[in-house]
Amino acid sequence: MNDVYLSIGTNIGERYENLQYAIRLLKDTEGVEVERISSVYETAAVGFTDQADFLNIAVHVKTIHSSSEMLKICQSIENALGRVREFRWGPRIIDLDILLYNHENIETESLIVPHPRMYERAFVLVPLIDITPTPENNQLQLVHLTMEQLNREKEGVSLWKTVDTVEEFVRSEN
Ligand code: ATP
Ligand code: MG
Ligand code: MG
Repeated sequence: MNDVYLSIGTNIGERYENLQYAIRLLKDTEGVEVERISSVYETAAVGFTDQADFLNIAVHVKTIHSSSEMLKICQSIENALGRVREFRWGPRIIDLDILLYNHENIETESLIVPHPRMYERAFVLVPLIDITPTPENNQLQLVHLTMEQLNREKEGVSLWKTVDTVEEFVRSEN
């Protein structure tokens, strides 16, 4: 089984329901097990800042699928939720990005892992350290080190809802 860490974000519509829907679809995907899920964090948009605040989570998945298959699975979930790409880094119903795939370095036309912008994004790192209390590989150690350095710059990322288990998350009311 492969260990995959995903980052999921949303800033359009019923944001919490969007996250729940995405996790349900992941759980229903054959060969994908959702092991662990972070608490939900709220983040002011970075980059293109004139848009609504995001909800962000990180998810640990175990899967039999290859990295390119996982990218297709993520994109099919984005499509199922009705994501429309208007412009880069603009508002979105849902965004599923692959942060880490085992400890691999991947660089193809459609997929770069570790995600090239993850280390500069507190909204990615804050949820990710929730679900990696003991960093098991070099990349996760780097995540923790980066977070320690970013410690004073967590502004803009605030705890929105505490989540303990995946089951609780998919069943809970907002
Ligand atoms: P960012 O990548 O900066 O978070 P984004 O998530 O808004 O931006 P998308 O429109 O979701 O960007 O994806 C653009 C392309 O990025 C996708 O078509 C996909 O092929 C590519 N891509 C490259 N690396 C990854 C990755 N690790 N996870 C998800 N998509 C990736
Ligand atoms: Mg993204
Ligand atoms: Mg994306």
